[in-house]
Amino acid sequence: MLYWDYAAAAPPYEEVVQTMEQIMKLHYANPSSLHKAGMEAGRLVRRAREVCAAAIGVKPEEILFTSGATESNNLAIKGAALQYESRGRHLVTTELEHPSVYESCLQLQQRGWEITFIAPDANGIVNPAAVAAAVRKDTVLVSVMHVNNEIGTVQPLKEIGALVKSANPRTLFHVDGVQGFGKLPVELNVWKADLYSLSPHKVRGPRGAGLLYVKEGVALAPLLTGGSHEEGLRAGTENVPAIVASAKAVRMSGEGRQQLYDQLVPLRDRLLHFLSGIPEFVVNSGEEGAPHIVHFSYPGMKGEVMARKLEELGMAVSTRSACSSRLAEPSRVLLSMGRSAREALGGIRISFGDKHTFEDITALEKALIKAVQDLKIAEGGVNK
Ligand code: PLP
Repeated sequence: MLYWDYAAAAPPYEEVVQTMEQIMKLHYANPSSLHKAGMEAGRLVRRAREVCAAAIGVKPEEILFTSGATESNNLAIKGAALQYESRGRHLVTTELEHPSVYESCLQLQQRGWEITFIAPDANGIVNPAAVAAAVRKDTVLVSVMHVNNEIGTVQPLKEIGALVKSANPRTLFHVDGVQGFGKLPVELNVWKADLYSLSPHKVRGPRGAGLLYVKEGVALAPLLTGGSHEEGLRAGTENVPAIVASAKAVRMSGEGRQQLYDQLVPLRDRLLHFLSGIPEFVVNSGEEGAPHIVHFSYPGMKGEVMARKLEELGMAVSTRSACSSRLAEPSRVLLSMGRSAREALGGIRISFGDKHTFEDITALEKALIKAVQDLKIAEGGVNK
């Protein structure tokens, strides 16, 4: 089976697996405990914080460990909303966001917050001027993702950050960086980002730890209350093995970013070229997008049916993001780009990483051709 679902979960580095095992066996003590073993666990968490901070060019005190980027996004949005409610009850985000951002905004909307959702253009790119035009005096936060998890488009964060801050300097800017980190440069200062979420398991780290950068001076209301862990912002005993192994993955993928980019772009471009030659497919991602995500639709054919067929042929792919793949509705992201419901139902996401080769792409191309033939026979022609 060839695995094409790196954007959902990337296989961990061998060093990450070893670190997890080693820490679980040797450093199981609670980092809050005052004995030597506890202090050693606490030292490991501190070191991990320094490593993660260095990887994105911030101060260790600005890094918060969570359970994953879903929690980081929830905390950034709801934590800022609750903390700064006296400034207003308005947020701005986009139609492209991951459910952990989108649903957090919808939850606030149900509680009386006003949310402006900005639609992207037909290529899946948000217009910075449209974001800025939505910012008001009472806008507490703007949240825009770096790379879309479904179609891989890259948002113009520099322009968005600059325009948001000139529209209202007090409005916080949150970036969901999950699909960009390890593939594209992270420029928090250039983007003027106040909050930034990162998910180690997308960059060959373990599940169970996430990161949230919180710029010095920005306050958040905690969502988890209890002990004084993470400076009181996130109560709960630290997941030391996942945190330490995450720091390893974040360092390694940050250092290997350019090399991975150079390796993936030719693979992606070859696949894009192939897909554009198949008349049944509509390609939804482009060469300006992230290097690891390719997305196409097969209008009239459900993505799940195509994905199952590809699995029979030895290819593990996704229909969109893993979190939404069980939904029967058309993709919200594709609809927001103006795609038809037929196109938005038939999406396939192929995402890859350093282990893939041109031979793998050749095998995938053959499987795609066979899948179209088989499905056409089975359905008696899907485009009718
Ligand atoms: N944001 C984006 C863009 C994602 O792709 C994902 C996961 O697919 C998340 C947030 C959530 O990350 P996690 O799996 O760490 O909760």
